[in-house]
Amino acid sequence: MNTNDQPIFRFAPSPNGQLHLGHAFSALLTQELAQKADGKLLLRIEDIDTIRCTDEGIEQMLNDLDWVGFSWDEEPRRQSAHFDDYEKALNALHADGLLYPCFCSRSQIKANATGEKDPDGAPKYPGTCKHMSPYDRDKRINSDAAYALRLDMKKALEKVGEVTWQEMSEDLSETETITADPMAWGDVILARKYTPTSYHLSVVVDDADQGITHVTRGKDLYFATAVHRVLQKLLELPEPKYMHHGLILDDEGNKLSKSKKSLSLAALKKRDWTPEQVRAQLGFEEDDEEPETELGEED
Ligand code: GLU
Repeated sequence: MNTNDQPIFRFAPSPNGQLHLGHAFSALLTQELAQKADGKLLLRIEDIDTIRCTDEGIEQMLNDLDWVGFSWDEEPRRQSAHFDDYEKALNALHADGLLYPCFCSRSQIKANATGEKDPDGAPKYPGTCKHMSPYDRDKRINSDAAYALRLDMKKALEKVGEVTWQEMSEDLSETETITADPMAWGDVILARKYTPTSYHLSVVVDDADQGITHVTRGKDLYFATAVHRVLQKLLELPEPKYMHHGLILDDEGNKLSKSKKSLSLAALKKRDWTPEQVRAQLGFEEDDEEPETELGEED
């Protein structure tokens, strides 16, 4: 917990693929802001997907971050070491009657969807399993069926009322109150049968446990903040401030993804880019020496 007034920032990558320029930008921007604010900077390894996040991948991620000039305070927190904490939070929501099991597969959801999309562009869950009788629920659960635990968003909002967050400008000098629209997500998944957590749940538990005061992350997570604020209110967790920065796009204007390996830090390193050149490319420092290869070029 944050016991004094020092701001606490974090960078929280998921080591399920190679880090790319977008991650480097987010990490270096967070570092710059933390330094300017005289704050602490924490690294959190978001590895709840224990199949795709390997020790080897984590090692490479730490090397890439070090190479690009990102350094953090304290031992990094690994989410995979905190499943018990997430389960506790999940149980508290369960005890309040806010969760229900959903047995639908992705294709069933697609087939039953109304055409409405969630803010990520996925078919919005139409609430198929919400009104299942307790008898049928128990029967399905005891039959070993796979299921997800969804948050009953309507019930949650009846409990917490209006949801807002404080969005900071990119230099953190100004703050604006944003009215969130959690209903746009519908009944989000908070856990699965064999994984007692989800991105949304672990991120709010961790931000609270680590005393994070400033959450700086990409605009792709802007709308997810609505869900995070609902969970913070339900679980009575402190409210950090948020800043969602612009994303680094490729030549076609698309968001970078882990599958586009040519822009991964490892690939740039292999093409003899220096960390200084990467930082200059991202606007963090002057560099007189141009890299030998252009960004879009393949080997
Ligand atoms: N782990 C998430 C990602 O890599 C970011 C989480 C966050 O900053 O809230 O996209």
